[in-house]
Amino acid sequence: MNTELNCNDKHSKLNATRVTRVLYPASEEEVIVAIRDAAAADQAISICGARHAMGGQQFGSDTLLLDLSALTELQAVDQELGFVEAGAGLMWPELLEGLLEQQEGQDAVWSIRQKQTGADDLTLGGSLAANIHGRGLQMRPIIDDVEAFTLIDGSGCRHRCSRGENKELFGLAIGGYGCFGVITSVLLRLTPRQKVERLVEITTMDRVVSVLEARLASGCLYGDFQFSIDESSSDFLNRGVLSSYRPVDSARGMPPARNDLGTTDWEELIHLAHHDRAKVFQVYSDFYLSSHRSLYWSDTHQLSVYLEDYHSKLDHDCGAKVPASEMISELYVPREHLTRFMEKAATLLRDGKVPVIYGTVRLIQKDDESFLAWAQHDFACIIFNLHTEHDREGIARSSAAFRALIDVALEFGGSYYLTYHRWARRDQVERAHPQFCGFLEKKEHYDPGHRFQSEWWKHHRNLLKP
Ligand SMILES: Cc1cc2nc3c(=O)[nH]c(=O)nc-3n(C[C@H](O)[C@H](O)[C@H](O)COP(=O)(O)OP(=O)(O)OC[C@H]3O[C@@H](n4cnc5c(N)ncnc54)[C@H](O)[C@@H]3O)c2cc1C
Repeated sequence: MNTELNCNDKHSKLNATRVTRVLYPASEEEVIVAIRDAAAADQAISICGARHAMGGQQFGSDTLLLDLSALTELQAVDQELGFVEAGAGLMWPELLEGLLEQQEGQDAVWSIRQKQTGADDLTLGGSLAANIHGRGLQMRPIIDDVEAFTLIDGSGCRHRCSRGENKELFGLAIGGYGCFGVITSVLLRLTPRQKVERLVEITTMDRVVSVLEARLASGCLYGDFQFSIDESSSDFLNRGVLSSYRPVDSARGMPPARNDLGTTDWEELIHLAHHDRAKVFQVYSDFYLSSHRSLYWSDTHQLSVYLEDYHSKLDHDCGAKVPASEMISELYVPREHLTRFMEKAATLLRDGKVPVIYGTVRLIQKDDESFLAWAQHDFACIIFNLHTEHDREGIARSSAAFRALIDVALEFGGSYYLTYHRWARRDQVERAHPQFCGFLEKKEHYDPGHRFQSEWWKHHRNLLKP
């Protein structure tokens, strides 16, 4: 049996899907040929990058899977405008390395503004398709960093999309989860690379927004807040480590090695997060406090260790009867409601039946360009990683917990991220993403033959059927 055809997402491993064939086109021409051949054979296509989305967006059963990870061409940086054309299959570490290599020896270097935190081997195409964000204190999602991109539609036609050309497709495909075609390359807007200093303090949820906003006002570019996950403590989802990053004089000497948590540290933290949630906060905050005022680069400080397949090892080490993984969810609330939201979330999760393994608060600015915009306001973003056992009861517990969290976010006029699961009820999708029905109509318009299909799209089409 060809195991390559049995696909699954890499993090949650809860999206097993069988496809009929996998192709790895390495150029735009090969993408066009693959799509035209599929169209001639009336074969549906699914599109993947690094396979980290967790709602079945990248696979469709019985589809031809186009894996775009070989589209890795990087052109020369436009030194005047600070733009670079990059292949949609490029992952962040390769992109950063390529940019640094090209500009080696220059005083002023262009680099990325934002990327995801927590994982690096994610493609540009996947990042656009989910309209991702990082920990910028005053940033919109990645659509704001995109000048243009090339999209190949369901009949194999090429479209350049920007704010001036094919504007509607520009806003649909960014945050469009592969429903409108294959993005082959992206013209990214870069920013000058800077030295930044990490500022660390321990604080509580009621101060998070005001401190992050004050940090922003004092010139910090990035920041977030990691909260305690110890459900037996009054600190649960309340006390945490607030880090922010402030530009410093470029003449300051950079230490030879980055002062950061390495693979072994993360292995220990992950182990503790599963077995000793009081201690994990202590270890994490001790490290962060010890790194107060350490220097980093504005781009590479956004890279982080990701432990491939860590849960299989954890399951093995503790003799778990059922395999498990962490399911992520991201909730959004107007910033003034963050504390009340977190109090209610703590009440929901305090019984520990669905342990919180990791959680963060960040800020996002309103996105008024993408069609299916999730950043509908200047929100506080709350990320929860919930331990999820892969049996019927475990999945039911986690999905119920996420639905309950979405209800609380909605109560405060908030929303949730569509990337991580498809567990929301119909009424929740409709309230959190009122543009979703319009999005499905646009999909019919631009892809009437349903050339591009995924489990995520099929699920929402059926869920929202009139
Ligand atoms: C541990 C972890 C941490 C994360 N942290 C963050 C975070 O901090 N911020 C955040 O915003 N997100 C975060 N994410 C979510 C992640 O950014 C998205 O799931 C992203 O889409 C993954 O990119 P990928 O290359 O793995 O794409 P895939 O999972 O392969 O695909 C995701 C979507 O992109 C589409 N797609 C992929 N390539 C193309 C292409 N070339 N053309 C058109 N469509 C394409 C697919 O069809 C699919 O709909 C995180 C995920 C994990 C697992």
